[in-house]
Amino acid sequence: MLPKKRRCPECTGNMEYQMINISYQEKDIDVAIKVTGVPALVCSNCSFQLISIRLAKEIDVLVDAIFASLRKQKSSLEIFHSEDGFTS
Ligand SMILES: [Zn+2]
Repeated sequence: MLPKKRRCPECTGNMEYQMINISYQEKDIDVAIKVTGVPALVCSNCSFQLISIRLAKEIDVLVDAIFASLRKQKSSLEIFHSEDGFTS
């Protein structure tokens, strides 16, 4: 877990334990994934956010899987439309 007291690596301000929301976006997909309630240390001075490397990696794996799934759905939808000629 994260240490309770920590200095900001950017400005050496006080970092406080907070639940934050993180948004993820990919250039080729028109969808953003919002992860809420992520435990983090947030600088009270410059708002620098720090989450544990382990947690960041776990979220990355999840978000990557969701984006991969969205890419698949998108391409199969396009194939369906072009083959079937289905409009509306
Ligand atoms: Zn700071």
